[in-house]
Parts: sequence; structure tokens; C-alpha cells
Amino acid sequence: MAYNVAEQIERMKAKNPAEPEFIQAVSEVLESVAPVLAQRPDYEEAAILERITEPERIISFRVPWADDAGRIHVNRGYRVEFSSTLGPYKGGLRFHPAVTQGMLKFLGFEQIFKNALTGQGIGGGKGGADFNPKGRSDAEVMRFCQSFMTELFRHIGPNTDVPAGDMGVGGREIGYLFGAYKRLANRFDAGVLTGKPLSFGGSLARTQATGYGVVYFAQRILEERGEALDGKRVLVSGSGNVALYAVEKAEQLGATVVSVSDSSGAVYDPAGIDFELIRHIKEDLRGRVSDYAEQRSSAEYYDGARPWGFGGEVALPCATQNELEAADARALLNGGVQVLAEGANMPTTIEATEMLQGAGVVFAPGKAANAGGVATSALEMSQNAARSRWAFEEVDAKLHGIMEDIYERCVAAADTYGHPGNLVVGANCAAFTEVADAMIAQGLV
Ligand code: NDP
Repeated sequence: MAYNVAEQIERMKAKNPAEPEFIQAVSEVLESVAPVLAQRPDYEEAAILERITEPERIISFRVPWADDAGRIHVNRGYRVEFSSTLGPYKGGLRFHPAVTQGMLKFLGFEQIFKNALTGQGIGGGKGGADFNPKGRSDAEVMRFCQSFMTELFRHIGPNTDVPAGDMGVGGREIGYLFGAYKRLANRFDAGVLTGKPLSFGGSLARTQATGYGVVYFAQRILEERGEALDGKRVLVSGSGNVALYAVEKAEQLGATVVSVSDSSGAVYDPAGIDFELIRHIKEDLRGRVSDYAEQRSSAEYYDGARPWGFGGEVALPCATQNELEAADARALLNGGVQVLAEGANMPTTIEATEMLQGAGVVFAPGKAANAGGVATSALEMSQNAARSRWAFEEVDAKLHGIMEDIYERCVAAADTYGHPGNLVVGANCAAFTEVADAMIAQGLV
């Protein structure tokens, strides 16, 4: 007997009502790994699907804090400790008003497989809060981070659970979180958080790693087709950490990146995005992409728009989940897209993914293409454990090698399971079998 995937998805829907993103992520993985399940009846005997879709632990807690005017706010904080099969729970913290437990379960579930693909010995987790850092002063963000850590600190540790940044959590927030952890735990555990500022244990190239990694992955796909990024038009969405460094690396490799965006609208710049200008606006001034268009004569700002209709051979969605729907896929196809690599987590809906794959676009799922961030976080943990610091070039070279390895693993698994060239099937099958086999080896825990 082997698993019936459709029945398993129905079971998940009944068990996790009102968690559509989690169901979407689970459905994509389960449908992709059907060829594995058909060959491995022992997975059903070991109840692998029932176990792997249930987080080992979820912590949910109150985060009270006072704003600069003394008004009290209460947010909800979470840590989803999904799987410690391959190593300590590892995954980012997201501060965004839309955060729910279901969203963090989707992200934590994806993280299990992404982390497996990196080969770095890390389990899967995710956390965050429905706190909106936008428009808040540094002092307000610091008080929020301190209150958040007052609960979280007892659950994390360098060998237990190692959070990092995600949307709304960058170097500033990680710094405040680290300071609060250190005071509460009375220990300088550098390896308890990654994405730290360089002055106290951060790794060179961690800030750039996710964006660079996405571009290395897209470049590898193009190489396989006898092409390169040089001379290509690239569409990037978002203008946060991942998007910015995808822009920088794609331009270093000779591409013309013609777009960036945020939740208000999109910028089209046919002359190529000026990386230093957009970096300065976003990182130093915490501004908007509309500010970029105001300062750059070749750029046009489109309020409320997404960038998918601007035309380009390579698409790198780097903003948020489900930002690329069926109509956007159609626009991409009309604009001549050949390769799509997901910088964000699950930015493409299942329908849009199928349309693009059906039209022959090479589609790289986020759990493979954006794994460079967490892989470099694991390199930060190694440096912290050894009390050493590697040069930027050394970390970048390791990152590049890891992205190439992930690509090879996806291609090999896609071949093995009868879907050559399908990187979604390849990524899911390669990662799933690794985690499932380790679960069986560790017994019923
Ligand atoms: P940031 O918070 O730095 O940036 C997020 C960007 O996405 C902002 O430009 C934001 O615009 C935009 N955005 C948010 N919501 C929407 C929306 N509904 N429509 C259009 N744009 C939107 O986050 P990151 O760059 O760190 O993360 C981006 C994605 O990459 C997320 O899916 C994250 O999970 C994933 N990721 C991040 C990694 C990392 O190392 N940082 C690692 C792997 C994956 P606005 O300012 O208007 O909100």
C-alpha cells in the first residue's frame, strides 16, 4: 500500500481550516512527491505524511509594548518549530501586520525542505508577529523586539532553534533581538540568531546572500540552455533585502533589470535600475520605490501595478507570497519570459506555475532558488562556533557552490522520478526523501 495523495490533501484541509497558504504549500509538495510515495510504501507504514505536516511545537505569545507617546499596544508573537530532523530549527522571523499562525506554518513547512536542500544540517522553523514596523521609530522597534524576546529567549539556542530575519526583520531588528537575548540568557551565544550586524558575529555576504543566490540559480539554468544573463532583460518585484541584492548581482552579470516594486506600485526603468540609488532609498532612508522614480529621469512609477507586464526574459519575484497570479503569468508569457526563479517564498500561485511550466518556461521554486540566504546563515553559525570570520569572497564562493549543488540535486531527482527538467518536482523529491529517510532512522519521535 502507498499513500493516496488526494486523500491526504483532504485530510490536511479538514485538519487545518482557515490556513489556505499552509494548505497550498502542503498540496504542492504532496503532489510533487507522488512518484516517491508510489515507490516507498514504507513511508506510509511510518506515517511520514501525517508526521511531517504536523509541527513539532508551536509557541504563541503576547507581546505588549508602549509607543513613543506612551500608548500600549499588544501584538501576537509566534515561533513554529516545525522539524528538527536534520538539525536545530532554523528559519526567519517575519514582522508584518498580515502574519498569522497559518502563514508561519506555510513558511515553516517550506523551510524544512529548503534547509534540507542546502545540505547544511539544519531543521525547519519560522516565527514572527503581526507587528508593523513601518513608520515606527527606532525606539519603538527596539521596545517591541525586547518584549518579543522576553518570551522567545527561553525557546531558542545555538543548538536548539536559530531564528534569522525575514520580511520586516533586518539587521536593526536582529541587533535589538540579540541584545535582549544576551541580557535575558546572560550568555553571549553568537550562534543563537543569524543575520547579525558584522560587529558582533554577523557574516560577510549574509545581507546579499538570498538575492545573489537567486541570480546564481537563474544563471545556472541559463547556462544549461547555452545562454547567460548577460544582455537579458530581468523583471524583479519587491525592493526589500532579497530584491535589492538580486538587482545588484543580475546587473553585475550583465543583465538589465528594468523593474522594482513595493506594495504600493511598480517602477519601470528601461535604462536599468540604478542599484546604488534604490539601495540608498530603501536601506538608508527607508523610502518607497515611488521616491526612486522621482529622482531618476529614465524611470516611470505605476501606482498599484505589478511589474510582470513590462517584458523580459527572466522574472525574479522577490516580494511576497501569491504576488504572481494567472493574469500575471499571461503577461509574463506575452513579454517573452523564459526563466522564472522565485526569490520570495511561494510568490507564484499554483495556477500561474502550471501555466508557465506548460508554456515551457523553466520554473525554479523558492525552496531551491532562495535557499542561499539560509545556507549562508548556516555558514554564519559555523563561523560563530569557530569564533572566526571568513572573507566576503570566501562566503560568496561557498554560496555560489551551494546554489550549484542545489541545482544539480534538483535536476538529478527530477530525472530519477520521471519528470526531467521539472525543478519543482526535483526540489520537492530530493528534499522530501532526505527528511523522510532521516525520520525513519530516528524512530517514532
Ligand atoms: P523585506 O521586508 O526586506 O522586503 C519585502 C518587499 O516586498 C518590500 O519591498 C515590500 O514592499 C514588498 N511587498 C510586501 N508585500 C507586498 C505585496 N502585497 N505586494 C507587493 N510587494 C509587497 O523582505 P525580504 O526581502 O527579506 O523578503 C522577501 C521575500 O523573500 C519573502 O517572501 C521572504 O519570505 C523571502 N525570503 C527572504 C529571505 C531573506 O534572507 N531575507 C530568505 C528567503 C526567502 P512594502 O515595503 O510596500 O511592504
